[in-house]
Amino acid sequence: MTERAHSNVTAETFDANAREALADPQLRAALRNLANVIGDRRQTAVASVGDWEGLRDRARAIKDETLAHLDEYLETFANNAAKAGAEIHWARDAAEACDVVLHLLGQRGATRVVKSKSMATEEIHLNKALEAEGLSPVETDLGEWIIQLAHETPSHIVVPAIHKSRKQIGDLFAKHLSMEPTEDVAALTRAARRSLRDRFAEADAGISGVNFGVAETGTILILENEGNARLTTSVPRTHIAVMGIEKVIPRLADLDVFLKLLPRSGTGQRLTAYQSLITGRKRSPKDEGPEEVHIVLLDNGRSRMLERPVRRQSLACIRCGACLNVCPVYQQVGGHAYGSVYPGPIGAVLTPQLEGLKRTSQLPFASSLCGACRDVCPVKIDIPALLLDLRAEVVAGPAHGGPPDREPAKRKPLERWIFALYAFAWSRPGLYEWSARIARLLQWPATRGGWTRKVSRVTAWLAPPLGAWTAGRDAPPLAPRSFRDEWRDGP
Ligand code: SF4
Repeated sequence: MTERAHSNVTAETFDANAREALADPQLRAALRNLANVIGDRRQTAVASVGDWEGLRDRARAIKDETLAHLDEYLETFANNAAKAGAEIHWARDAAEACDVVLHLLGQRGATRVVKSKSMATEEIHLNKALEAEGLSPVETDLGEWIIQLAHETPSHIVVPAIHKSRKQIGDLFAKHLSMEPTEDVAALTRAARRSLRDRFAEADAGISGVNFGVAETGTILILENEGNARLTTSVPRTHIAVMGIEKVIPRLADLDVFLKLLPRSGTGQRLTAYQSLITGRKRSPKDEGPEEVHIVLLDNGRSRMLERPVRRQSLACIRCGACLNVCPVYQQVGGHAYGSVYPGPIGAVLTPQLEGLKRTSQLPFASSLCGACRDVCPVKIDIPALLLDLRAEVVAGPAHGGPPDREPAKRKPLERWIFALYAFAWSRPGLYEWSARIARLLQWPATRGGWTRKVSRVTAWLAPPLGAWTAGRDAPPLAPRSFRDEWRDGP
């Protein structure tokens, strides 16, 4: 995307962002490639599990149990982590979480900071907060480092630099690492490794996210493929982990379920290359690992999501990114168009709940409601139901009952009018039947397939906005005889 995409793009401008992304052929090719490669790998990895559906059900049951008693599991997690030597900090919102991290770094005089990939720290804009205090945190995940060098934001939960071509990365490295431009992946990763190794060696503190926090033992688990998270959490003297409160799970044995689901869903791997289980700080000076471990438990709107069952399921998300890879909207426009930290279907339901609908009201409409996200989600989150619930709030106001504390977002008058007409006609059997007859008449002159394109010429002439809607969409021809005809007259 252009400069505008990274400076002014917000969730408020989704429609404009999407139009700009659609005009970027390199981005669309990269997204197609991602969907194909990860899609194929995922299918093979999923097939290697005997009872994938049963596994998904177990994962969802564990998450539901945890969310129903979240306060108790969090307390158990905090007590057990503290017993193992970790210090627990509670943060109600992003500002508090950043303050905690800044305070910890300031107390220790830590100026050199390395970070491993973490959506929670992206959510609270931790890098910005650190930079505002004169610190220069270094992202150590290769994809995150690339976008940090480019002063951009991640465009995918799991593959943050998917929008960048090899050439763009080669040019970026040439500019920042004083090397010749190259598109050779091995040369680029070697150069990154050389540069990042020094940053680990000199770091005073390492900041990470958390994939799962185990209540039973106070252990945190971090999954990754590059070894950078392990270095971030073990080389510097101080390790600070930022963990969303929904990441807690009851038992160590539950990891058996999630370790089978997450890598397969996210990258199509049977298991990630590294799984770091961290239980407190090192016990004796001879041990390896950090002298201090701090865990910042982040709420930032999550408690609010617990209130309504349909919304609560958003907190079951394990950030695998699978729903992005299958979403027909994400596949066309990529992550930056969403103008939020969390893109794709899960972003379209998480961001409005975290930030409020006033500025994000376009996001719940950034979906065809095809249900592919629900079908692929390893924890069976019903994202279409969430999208509809949020759409209802956009139209009617909070809790669908009007807008007492927030003005409802405005939908386009023509769109409202069309849907009102549609609801009026198709909720009356006679009008429904007549509209189907008219559609059959309109398709009559069309050749096989693509009949709506012909219709679009008529609609473009009658009402230009309708023509624009049908110009990019196709539909199968209607059957010559309807179900009603068959029922009434016999086959
Ligand atoms: S909603 Fe489901 S598929 Fe999407 S990132 Fe979360 S766990 Fe993965």
